[in-house]
Amino acid sequence: MIDQLTKYAAKLAEAGLCAPGEPLLAAWDAELCFSHAGDARQPLAEAVLQGLGASALLLAEPTGACQGAMLALARQAREAGESAIIPGDCETRTFLHDLPVVDAETAPAWPVDAPGSRAPGAAADPLDGLASPLATALDNPLDNPLTNPLTNPLDNALDNALTNALTNALTNALMRRKGCIILRQGRVLMAAAGSVSPEQTFVTASSMAFACFVAYFAQYLAAARAGRLTAAQRDEFAHIRTLLQADLARLPSAAPQLSPGPFANADQARAAMIQAGRAVVEYGLVDSSFGNVSCRQNTPEGELLLISQTGSALDELSGLIDPCRMDGSSCVGLTASSEYPAHKAIYDGGPARALLHGHPRFAVILSLDCDKADCPGRGNCHRSCATPRAVLAPAMPAWNTPAGDTATGDTPSPLLIPIVPGEVGAGPYGLCNTLPPALNDDGGRRGAIVYGHGLFATGRADFCEAFATLHGVERFCREEYFRRVAQLDKQSGAG
Ligand SMILES: [Zn+2]
Ligand SMILES: [Zn+2]
Repeated sequence: MIDQLTKYAAKLAEAGLCAPGEPLLAAWDAELCFSHAGDARQPLAEAVLQGLGASALLLAEPTGACQGAMLALARQAREAGESAIIPGDCETRTFLHDLPVVDAETAPAWPVDAPGSRAPGAAADPLDGLASPLATALDNPLDNPLTNPLTNPLDNALDNALTNALTNALTNALMRRKGCIILRQGRVLMAAAGSVSPEQTFVTASSMAFACFVAYFAQYLAAARAGRLTAAQRDEFAHIRTLLQADLARLPSAAPQLSPGPFANADQARAAMIQAGRAVVEYGLVDSSFGNVSCRQNTPEGELLLISQTGSALDELSGLIDPCRMDGSSCVGLTASSEYPAHKAIYDGGPARALLHGHPRFAVILSLDCDKADCPGRGNCHRSCATPRAVLAPAMPAWNTPAGDTATGDTPSPLLIPIVPGEVGAGPYGLCNTLPPALNDDGGRRGAIVYGHGLFATGRADFCEAFATLHGVERFCREEYFRRVAQLDKQSGAG
């Protein structure tokens, strides 16, 4: 069990969502286990787990731009007197509903002190020490008068009162939702509970981080469009943008090693899918366990559609790829990705041999942005805009393409990436009806964005081309986002 806890705590750090060693994961095995020892939040985690009757609990402080976005949204919710953040994208909206904000700034019986500046004799903050859990672990509690209940019984009593207040607030929020956000002294902390496994808390926390990131940047652009940005909002945005630059600098810059196609057999195709899925996660093009990958492959037994299983993590696809028959005669069906019907229809109607689907953040954010003030679809543009929209990204070669392949002398044409509706289900705006024509028109397109959801990219032989599209379109969307913000700000006279 401890392996599972340290694994998912480490995955949060690898995704750049938390500092290494910071997330505290707790779960019941034969006894209560923690991802690491000596964390001041352990009594709180134990009390909440008991109150909920859940099997796993995560407490983690986000970092980087996600932290900035979450903090901005949590403060905004509090100022508006609302008890939750409403995510802007469709998929997390479906998955999380809303994100309750537990306001611990004004929690009763909370001592007035700042982290790190606690006077001797004051109570230990149950959330304190989260910035440096390693340092806390190294402390010998018996040498430390602040944390030693034996030498300071008053501290202990106050500490218990605080833990009780927070325990109640957290337990109530987590009874209703998979995760919530604690706002405390200018910082935010994510809490997530799992009924069966620690993995659930990881999925919830990374979905929360994605949802807040998208909601913050989308709201800011909408406010810029409406000409109602305040100086304070601009300052906050500049700060979060700096955090984003640092986040982006952590991502790999060299091309990933992806096997070139065509693949000789289904095993090679599976290996290429595992590689491609891992690259999508490593390059920050998907959060949580969202996204999927598929491949069309000839075998002696007939043509197969290999597809990742529903709910599988893209960076751990080994053993989680289902073989479906292209002739439709058989499919594992129950476990195949929920987006299998869309993948099947894309292969049936066009030249693609490989599909890669991620949720790159700025592609999703731009899909939420409608620039027509008098759009007939106003209010619904994040689901299905009445004005056809697309992203016109610069031409991009497939990474790993041998140089000779692109030296044809033709001017490479820009990529038209349509933005299409893709509601859940099989209706006229359902993904399996909107996405295949968008990707198969014009003799086959490199990619399409689904409103408020993500990007689907195609490859004609392998995942090199699809990955280049996923990566390149996201980079373009990010640049385009900041271009739009700068232009709108200039128009409003704030330059
Ligand atoms: Zn998706
Ligand atoms: Zn619109």
